[in-house]
Order: sequence, then C-alpha cells, then structure tokens
Amino acid sequence: MRNFMRFIIVLIISFFEILSSATAQQSGKAVKLEVDLREAARRIYHAKMEFPVKPGPFTLVYPKWIPGEHAPNGPIVDVTGVKFFANGKEVSWRRNTVDLYAFECEVPAGAETLEATLDYLLPTESGTAGVPSASAQVAVLPWNLVLLYPKDTKSDDVKFSAKLRIPVGWKFATALPVAKESSEGIEFETVSLTTLVDSPVLTGAHMKTYDLSPGQKPAHRLNTAADSAAMAEATPEEITVWRQLVAETGSLFGARHYRHYDFLLALTDHLQPNGLEHHESSDNRVPERTLHDPDIMETQMDLLSHEFFHSWNGKYRRPAGLATPNYQEPMRGELLWVYEGLTQYYGVILAARSGGWKPEGLREYLASTAAYLNDRPGRAWRDLEDAAISAQTLYGGRTAGNSWRRSVDYYDESTLIWLEVDTLIREKTGGKKSLDDFCRAFHGGEGNEPKLIPYTLDDVAAALNGVVANDWKKFLLERVRSHGPGAPLGGLEKSGWRVTFSSTMNEHQKAVEAAEHAVDAEYALGFFVHYPGSDNADEFAEVVWGSPAAKAGLTAGMKLVAVNGRKWTPDILREAIRGAKGGKEPIELLVENDDFYQTAKIDYHEGERYPHLEAIAGKADVLGEIAKAKAPPVR
Ligand SMILES: [Zn+2]
Repeated sequence: MRNFMRFIIVLIISFFEILSSATAQQSGKAVKLEVDLREAARRIYHAKMEFPVKPGPFTLVYPKWIPGEHAPNGPIVDVTGVKFFANGKEVSWRRNTVDLYAFECEVPAGAETLEATLDYLLPTESGTAGVPSASAQVAVLPWNLVLLYPKDTKSDDVKFSAKLRIPVGWKFATALPVAKESSEGIEFETVSLTTLVDSPVLTGAHMKTYDLSPGQKPAHRLNTAADSAAMAEATPEEITVWRQLVAETGSLFGARHYRHYDFLLALTDHLQPNGLEHHESSDNRVPERTLHDPDIMETQMDLLSHEFFHSWNGKYRRPAGLATPNYQEPMRGELLWVYEGLTQYYGVILAARSGGWKPEGLREYLASTAAYLNDRPGRAWRDLEDAAISAQTLYGGRTAGNSWRRSVDYYDESTLIWLEVDTLIREKTGGKKSLDDFCRAFHGGEGNEPKLIPYTLDDVAAALNGVVANDWKKFLLERVRSHGPGAPLGGLEKSGWRVTFSSTMNEHQKAVEAAEHAVDAEYALGFFVHYPGSDNADEFAEVVWGSPAAKAGLTAGMKLVAVNGRKWTPDILREAIRGAKGGKEPIELLVENDDFYQTAKIDYHEGERYPHLEAIAGKADVLGEIAKAKAPPVR
C-alpha cells in the first residue's frame, strides 16, 4: 500500500492447529464461486458459493486481515444477504459471539455440498465501513470482499473455481488466468484462495491495455479503466516511462517472481486514491484526470513504481509477522519500515530512474519529505518502530493531530533511512557497491513464478553484511527506535544535499496543493487549510503541534474565515504572511470553532518558508548517481 494520508482528510491459532483442525470440509475439491458485478453501478456485488462438505459442525469465515492493508479491516459490516442451503433446504447459521467474522452452522446428514450466498454493499465514501470500489463506470473486485472460506484452513490449501459476470459492454483485466469466456460470463482457472485474493479484477465501460514490455517474456501490461474514454488513454511519454520502469526492475533485481504482470489502473474521482500490491498485479486507484494533468501526475508519479516494487519486496519476500497462513490470523507490523519503507525509497528512486521524475523533481520531493519529518513533534513520544507496530490503528486515521500522534511515518521516514544505508554502502565500498546489490541478493534468486520467502530482521542484516560488513542490525534499530529530536538526515547529507528554506515555493508541494486543494503553510504559520469552495472548504486539515498557529489557539477542524479583517483566499493568506515579514504586527485570523468565532493573533514575522535541497559544497552528487537510469533506454 502507498501512503496517501498526509494532506487530505480521507479518510492466534498456531500454524499446526490450523493444519490439524477438523472441519466438515471435504479436502481436495474446489469451492465454486460465482460473482455478479452487473449491479456495480448500484454499488452492490452479489456472490454465491458452493462448498464441498461432510455432515457436522461447519464454520465459514469472512477475510479479516487483508494482505497489504496490514489491518483487520475486512468490511464485515457491509456483508449482507448471508444464507446457507443444503439438500435443497435453508440451513440456519449463528455468528460467533466473539469473532464476528465467523458464521457457524450444522451441515445436515446426507449433504455433500453447502451453498452460501452473500451481497456486498459498497460504500461511496471512505470510512469505518471500508473504501469505495466502484463508480458508475469503473469497478474493482478484490475477491476477499465477496467470499467466505472454511475456518482454520490455510489459504494455500483451499482451492477456488471462480466465475464472474460483468455489466454488458464492459471490459475487464486481471492477472487471474481465464479458462473460458462466453455470454454466460468469465470462468477462471481453479487456483488457491491465496492466488484468488492476490488477483483482483478491474472492469469498466472505458478500458485500454498497453504492452509495457513488447516482444519480451514475461509480459507486462498496463490496464486502465476510467470514467470517460479520453481519460483512459495514456500519453506516449507516460508509456515510455513505465516501459523504462519495467526495464529498470529487470536491471535491479535480475529476476522476476511472476508469470506476467498486470498494472490495474482505475481512473475515477469516486474511489479514494490508493494502491494495493499483489504478486502478479497491482490495484491502483487515482483521480480521473491523472494521465492528462501534470500536477496530479506529479503527485502520483511513484505510485506504479511503489506497487510494482512490492512484487519483490512484500510479496516474494515478506516479514515473517506479515506472512500469515490465512486471513483471520493477526499480522504483526513491526518490520513495516522494511516492507513499506524500502518500497517507498525505491518507488521514488525508480520513478526517477525511469524518467518520471527529473533530478530537480526528486530533490523537491525529498526536501518536502525531510522537512516535515524533521519537524515532527510526535517523535518525542513515539518512535518509528512503534508506528510500525501500531500500523493497524494508524491506517485510515485522520490527518488532524498527525504531527503529535504520528501517522504511518514508516513510509516517508524510511526513505531517509534507506537512503542512508545506500549512501553508507557506497561510501564504505568507494562507490563499487550500493543498496542495489542488497536488492539483487535479497529479492533476486530464482524467478518466473510467485513464491513467498518470509524474513526476519536478522535476515535483512545478514544480507546487508553480505554486501559490506557493518553492524547493520544496530544501525537500523538505532534509527527506528530514535526519539530525535530531528529526522534521520545523515543519508541526505552523504548524498551531497541538505535541506534549506526559502520564500520560493517547493515544486512538489505546489503540485500537491493543486491536487489536494489545500494551502500548505506548514513551515510558516504551521497549518494546512482547504481552499474555499473545495471539499472540507476553509477547514484546517492539520495545525502542527507547537507551531505559531497552535500557540495562537488554532487546531484542526476549525474553519478559516478572514485574514487581517478580509475574507480569506489563498492569495490573501500568502500576502499577509509576506506582509508581516520583519514587522511587529501579528497576523490576525478570524476562525470559526463550531458556532463561535474567535480571533487568533499570530506573532510570526519570517515570511513564506518552503523547503528545498541545496548542494553541500565539496560533496559529490551521490543522489544524482543513485537516481540515474541503470537499464538501457527503451524506445
Ligand atoms: Zn506499499
């Protein structure tokens, strides 16, 4: 998954017990699953299943811990219409009173199959019920939304034969192998539950497919589905970038752990921007105009590279605590700073290597990342490792309070940590080796099909030691358990750059502002505020803990009304900040707090402040070297 939550308000059973557990399921036979998406535009998915069973007690469970989401967020609240049938009669079920994801029943004598139905009601907004997966014109089907499976089984062992119906005239794309297609629907090959859940379907009225590795094996495809035909079209420049991305990963890892790879890209404003990694595909969701709006593209440039990198780091290699045998077993997120952190670093670096981000673009992105993390008061009480351990509570958390609570900081902060590992390896080996050598050793190996090899921190440290000797475990733990006060900026310095502030706006921040419709005055007054007329208009998305605005009594959720007595606009706010520079008079903000108005006088006189990277005199541009393409240019 990729972190989208910084600026916007968006929202044990042992292994052996599982193996030996007796259930009424007959082993060997596949579960038949029929899913009907023809009412996707009405936000309803229908499903029917047929389980091979034996008479006796039988429990079916709904997936709770979803791979890549690192949280027990299977949206059980919207699972409706659950009914069981056997021998032509309805079979009553009772929900487990502690585990609300478990449906218990008694299979009657003589029954060899149990039929189950369910409807999944899709939310139209993100919230505690989950996230939207369909618009009027585009639908994504993560199979875990519409299925049950026998309790205490391993997802590798349960087989599913799935059939799918989509709206008339719609197309579809998925990594799941198709057995047969007819007017009755699409029949997929029988696969394990692991593979099924790992292979979502993208379908829509307006779809395009692009070959990202023409004439080569394995195949790589970009499949787009948009709310309009024109917005499903990628530009030739974008296709060149993503072809180069495929080439760069080949050069980086030397092996691929999939039979083919499908980027699924949903372009609609009605799904929350997100990305979810899979072994042979990725489920990417972005605003409708992304492929044709440079500002939005700038903020999404590392999305496909991030999710693609996960095929190696996250799917092929996964922390042992996240490599669970099924979707009910709790996950442990303590190594998410490797799973998500290393992926965030390479997602950004690969976006640069493949030409998506120019060197200046990469520097502006890193300046913005380093600056906000360096000024993260929450570090005083919460270290990065605790954020990783707490992952299941932090995803979906609100932006308000993030500077003191901390958020899923193991994405961005780990970018800085892995940059330090990369630059330290380069320093210790005189530029002969780099973190790329670690990736090749750790994520390479034999390829061509999906496989999972779990790892521990000791395995990571050992592989790094294989590249160059160092006490890597101590090095990494010191960083993830640090209380600062500042961010780990050692790598940035070794890469030849340091953070500096000026009144010129940061180009990456500018693109984020335009895409998110929120003024970023984080390093001056200390807040983000949504544009007038936008979603959450005039609202402070976050007021940084300890900032001048916080000291003047402001907090997230309040609304900005006027600046120095005049109805506010982004320009009027910026002019007031510039006007107060070097002066004595405070900036006066009229704000609304529930039904009450209050005036906040902010004593701030340093003008506009935006972060940039400045070259350190006498140091080589190692960052530039890291970001250079490593594979020959594609045509
Ligand atoms: Zn991720």
